[in-house]
Order: sequence, then C-alpha cells, then structure tokens
Amino acid sequence: MYKDIVDFIRQLYGYEGLIPLHAPKFVGNEKKYLNECIDSTYVSSVGKFVDRFEEMMEDYTGAKKAVVCVNGTNALHMAMMLVGVEKGDEVITQALTFIATCNAISYIGAHPVFIDVDRDTMGLSPIAMSKWLNENCEVKGNICLNRKTGRRIKACVPMHTFGHPVHLDELVELCERYHIELVEDAAESLGSFYKGKHTGTFGKVGVISFNGNKTITTGGGGMLIFQDEELGKLAKHLTTQAKVPHKWEFVHEHIGYNYRMPNINAALGCAQMENLDSFLLNKRVIAEKYKDYFSQFDEIEFFCEPNNCKSNYWLNILLMKDKEAQTDFLQFSNDNGIMTRPVWRLMNKLPMFSSYQTDNLKNTIWFEDRVVNIPSSVIL
Ligand SMILES: *Cc1c(COP(=O)(O)O)cnc(C)c1O
Repeated sequence: MYKDIVDFIRQLYGYEGLIPLHAPKFVGNEKKYLNECIDSTYVSSVGKFVDRFEEMMEDYTGAKKAVVCVNGTNALHMAMMLVGVEKGDEVITQALTFIATCNAISYIGAHPVFIDVDRDTMGLSPIAMSKWLNENCEVKGNICLNRKTGRRIKACVPMHTFGHPVHLDELVELCERYHIELVEDAAESLGSFYKGKHTGTFGKVGVISFNGNKTITTGGGGMLIFQDEELGKLAKHLTTQAKVPHKWEFVHEHIGYNYRMPNINAALGCAQMENLDSFLLNKRVIAEKYKDYFSQFDEIEFFCEPNNCKSNYWLNILLMKDKEAQTDFLQFSNDNGIMTRPVWRLMNKLPMFSSYQTDNLKNTIWFEDRVVNIPSSVIL
C-alpha cells in the first residue's frame, strides 16, 4: 500500500529525485521587479515595492491596513506588543503549532497556556477554551484573571493550522466575553477564508508569513494586517525604529524596532502576489486529486477544509490509523524520496514550555499520533 502511495505522489509531481513538501515557484515578474529594484538603488527599507506590496495585501485580504515585517516571527512579536501583552501576562494558544507562536509570546516575558484543538479544524477549540476559562478564570472589571496563578490573561493566539481556518465566530465571541485580545497567527493561511472573509481579519491583529516554504514567499518576510487603521499606523511607526517623519532630523519618540521588510524582498512579494490566485487554484486541484485517491483506503483519511471555509491547502494532511502506521509511512516515504513529516513536536513537550498550563489536549495528542504532511507544492 505505501509503495502505491509513493508511486502516486511521484507520478503526480512527475519527476525523479526528492519531492519536497513545499517548494516556491517563480514564474511571473520576480526577476523583472528585482532588476527594477536594484536599478532604482532603493533596495533597503523604503521604496515603491514596499508600499505596493502592502496595498496588494490590503486589497486581497480586505484589511484596512497592512504593514510589512522582516519575517512572521517578529510580526507576531510586534502583534503581542500592539495588543498590550506585558511581562507576566498569560496568552492562550495551541500546543499544536510552529514554535514561532510561542517564541513571540516569550519575547515579551509572557506565559503561554496550551488549549486543545478541534478535530474538524486542527486549530484552537472554542469549546475547550470556554471550558478552561470557565474552570480557571474570572473577569474583574475588564480584566480576565487566572484564579490559580493570579496572572492576567491578556491575549489569545489561534493558529490556522496548515491553512485550515479555526472556528472564528466562536473565538471572537469568547474573547469579547472575557476581555481577551484576539491575535490570529495566519502565517500559514494566506488565501484561506472563513465564511467568505479572509483569515487574519477577525482579530485585532493578523500575522502572515512569506517564508520560503509558505504559499507565496519573499525569501523571508511577514505582514501585519489590521481592521483598525490607527493601530496599523502605530505598527508602521514602531517597525521603523519609531522615527518621527522629518526631512533631515533624526528623532525617535519610543523604543522602536527595525522590523520592516526591505524593498528588495517586497519586490519579490509583489510578483508573487500577482500569481497567488493561480497558485491557490492549482493547490485546490492537487488537494482534490489527493482526496479522490485516498478515498480508496479505509485506514487513511485525507483532511478536508472545515465547513463554511475555503482553505488554501497550504500543506496537505493525511491522518493515519495510529502511531505505528504514522511512523511506518514516514519511514517508507522519506526512504523513497518523498518528503513527508509529522506535526511539530508539541509545544508543551519542549523543555522551554513544559512548565506552563495545559488542558487535557485530547485532540492535540490524537493528531500528534496520526498526522503526516505530504508534498503540496504548486505543480506547473
Ligand atoms: C511560518 C510560521 C510563522 C512565521 O515564521 P517566519 O519563518 O518567521 O516567517 C509563524 N507561525 C506559524 C504557525 C508558522 O507556520
């Protein structure tokens, strides 16, 4: 059976040699814009591509303001600061996520709290979160306090795992009820929509990543998106060393950050954005083919987008029967030149985060033993 699967994937991608999980595609104006950028000499922190890339992202996502960052991780760090997370606060998130989410929380000196994910989204569960809040927290004034630790729960960071949107309506409602700021880690979900609205536009801040393995890439890069234009303007200010605009004076009014994406990366971003729709269409076709193919196996399930959602199918997901099947398939596929991988080691199992609170993480652990990501690059 594993041999048939490996043959199917190789045939789908149509070449010998290692088939990666997600390789970037440069088939549009990338070289043209890079040349324009170099010829202009504006390769660094200002230039027309930065402005254009932000405008393209605003148009595409429907955000009122988009602000480029050097990468998704520092965009998340900035998001934590912008919503007012402070040292000693607690921030609710998933144990099933990439480490960047938890690193950003830690840069502030805040503590993550790990809540379970849902079986239909693989992202933060509003039901599990509601239960945990109900058992552990109380609202005093407009502050949510953890009764056990005495700490303030300031923010919540759901992650749209592998591009599949979480249950946003319920999370928005829950965060409002408990006075918790919602920040969406939409690093993996550019092109994913919940009830017709782009992911990352439901919380106070959304974060997108353009790392080399994401749906589009700028080499390295990230974006903050906002519905609150004023907060977006503040983000722009803080990510550019908080410099007061002036023709020649150098005055800074806060501690700022050099987090702004260089124009040369934004040039790549503009060219990639022009192809986003065709990439997404192509990724849906691949997902459909996988779905059809895997429907013949009783012991393997292909993970489909949640109801009312349109997923970008960034990384396609198989759910194996159990841990043993997962290990066997990972071994066989990687031995045969097809790159596959399990989910990230759960955050609560890493030494840096192992002392923080969790709920029972039932579904999280269920996924940990079954998920295998399979090759998902756009096919030309
Ligand atoms: C990719 C990613 C990020 C951001 O990563 P960068 O490499 O810093 O751009 C953040 N969170 C998640 C879940 C990611 O997958």
